[in-house]
Amino acid sequence: MGKQHLIYTDHTLQELKGVGPKSLQLLNELNIHTLEDLVLYLPTRYEDESVINLNEATDGDVVTVTGEVYSSPTVAFFGRNKSKLTCHMMIDGVAVKVTFFNQPYLKKRLVMGETVTVKGKWEQKKQVITGQKVMAERSGGGNTLTPIYRLKEGLKQKQLNKYIEQALKLVNIDEWLSDTLINKYKLMSLKEVIPILHKPIEFEQLKFARRTFSFNELFLFQLKMKWLSKLEKESNQIEGLNYNINDVKNFIDTLPFELTDAQKNSVNEIFRDLKAPIKMHRLLQGDVGSGKTVVAAIAIFAMFNSGKQSALMVPTEILAEQHAISLDELFKGQLNVALLTSSVKGKKRKLLLEQLNAGEIDIIVGTHALIQDDVEFNDIGLVIIDEQHRFGVNQRKKLREKGADTNVLFMTATPIPRTLSISAFGEMDVTSIKQMPKGRKEIITSWAKHDEIEQVLNQLNSEIVKGQQAYVICPLIEESEALDVQNVVAIYEQLQIKFGAEKVGLLHGKMSSEEKDHIMDRFSQNEIAILVSTTVVEVGVNVPNATFMIIYDADRFGLSTLHQLRGRVGRSHHQSYCTLVASPKTESGVERMHIMTESTDGFYLSERDLEMRGPGDFFGVKQSGLPDFRVANIVEDYRMLEVARDEAAELVQSGEFFEPKYDKLRLLVQESMEEQNFD
Ligand code: ADP
Ligand code: MG
Repeated sequence: MGKQHLIYTDHTLQELKGVGPKSLQLLNELNIHTLEDLVLYLPTRYEDESVINLNEATDGDVVTVTGEVYSSPTVAFFGRNKSKLTCHMMIDGVAVKVTFFNQPYLKKRLVMGETVTVKGKWEQKKQVITGQKVMAERSGGGNTLTPIYRLKEGLKQKQLNKYIEQALKLVNIDEWLSDTLINKYKLMSLKEVIPILHKPIEFEQLKFARRTFSFNELFLFQLKMKWLSKLEKESNQIEGLNYNINDVKNFIDTLPFELTDAQKNSVNEIFRDLKAPIKMHRLLQGDVGSGKTVVAAIAIFAMFNSGKQSALMVPTEILAEQHAISLDELFKGQLNVALLTSSVKGKKRKLLLEQLNAGEIDIIVGTHALIQDDVEFNDIGLVIIDEQHRFGVNQRKKLREKGADTNVLFMTATPIPRTLSISAFGEMDVTSIKQMPKGRKEIITSWAKHDEIEQVLNQLNSEIVKGQQAYVICPLIEESEALDVQNVVAIYEQLQIKFGAEKVGLLHGKMSSEEKDHIMDRFSQNEIAILVSTTVVEVGVNVPNATFMIIYDADRFGLSTLHQLRGRVGRSHHQSYCTLVASPKTESGVERMHIMTESTDGFYLSERDLEMRGPGDFFGVKQSGLPDFRVANIVEDYRMLEVARDEAAELVQSGEFFEPKYDKLRLLVQESMEEQNFD
């Protein structure tokens, strides 16, 4: 890195005292190649070594406490190089036995009658502290926070500390933020902040430094998003769509129901995009069953009406088939609907591709089979990606690039929490359907322990007797040695015994697609009453007559997945039920079960899911385009993220960002753009 950067030096890692070939190798493995990398290699946490009152500690805590030694230490040796030092101390009025393993030399520092500070693990019941170290005497305050870095075997915290200390003296740090922003938000200068993050003196100071660093990171990230969206807007100029609005209205009139207000609003937003001379890039999110498919169908109709083709990509074959069928029904033969999955092969496939290329197909529905190279359109104007988070960035991109002027509509039933949508998607336009079609009854969800399964199965039976159908969901297909999960096959067999073999079907991911289709068909035709399945039914499957669902080991799933699964029932005017069967071992498992029984609002559930799982796990970081921040946390620092977004927008939109004084910052942003893939 050269002087054009905001953090720069002419020196190298090799120049540091103590860095030899071996430690250099280890540093490289931690992705530290330069001194600049090293100073930005921040601690993952800090251990608080400030002295506390022992009476305030709880059992199992690692504590730092001060007291008087009242028995001379004794050392017992056993085995080779093994020893145990024992002494007694009076700490905050508590008589405590203090032991140190394999540190016999500490005897010198634990002198009877003297006051010393020790750090160790407090075992309240036994009144024992298993010591880790005897603390050096501190004169007034001093460092009580010890930084802890993520390390490699062979590299010690102390060593890294020393390297960083030297590096900080050799590296120049320029500000990323203007003085105006620093003053406006009462931040520190980056030059002060970085050394503090490595060696904070006290907690308040660390908090302040972290706040400043987070702001820097979030601002940089938002600058990138704003810049990208500016570039995109400039390159995305296309001709606005030319459809006949009356034809579209007539089509809407032929639908078997009236659109909900939320659907009407979504249609309006999408049509505004389609008319504008810029490519649509919109996310349509709404709970399972909120009627996204119909909204998509109206957009497809408008495309057809302007002489353009559409493609709808979905994650599973079952779903592709269902979508193709329901679209065909909605269009009543006006549009030519085709289906392309990996099961479509040979002559049939060849013919289909020819028709597509000739423009004879108006809407093609399919799985990732759609992105194969030989799938060519005549004139594609709209790409719709359902359950968009199921596809990788590159898959989505490939489909989009099937045409030069493609508008893109993403759909998801896993609502993206607001927090993530402004950070991960930046400027992607978002439309939310927060309303269900009239007449839907809320699914009644309950939670049962494994030993209550008989009652649950009796409830299931009473639904079946009424002519309704049921799903029974199990987490894994094969018994795993690590996980004590119910085996889908075992449950299938058990239910066959209870309800009769012919009434129960089995569906799992390892079956061939023909087998799966066959079972799904029989279930849709009500030839099977109970479908035992793994999570393959998670997305989109529509069998309105199914009104009962059992989810085994429900605590193994996240809230969003449970909500998706539950959405397979509650698809008609009949009352539906979902029973979670779980005996959670963790508090969060119990909490999730409670949350699920209390809410059917997918937007609320996704916020809670994010809160409980954190942004990294929510959906793959890589897929979401979410950066790995060093300090910032988009959930906790959400308010700051919004502020950073507004400031970044101001800087980019005013054009100030492109003035020479921002040359270095632009370069930094540019580099971070290259590291990432965006939609
Ligand atoms: P999503 O894709 O959002 O899960 P769908 O589009 O599959 O939901 O719609 C679920 C069901 O509701 C379908 O059977 C659909 O025909 C029906 N539906 C959609 N919109 C309405 C509406 N406005 N009124 C009544 N039923 C509707
Ligand atoms: Mg759907």
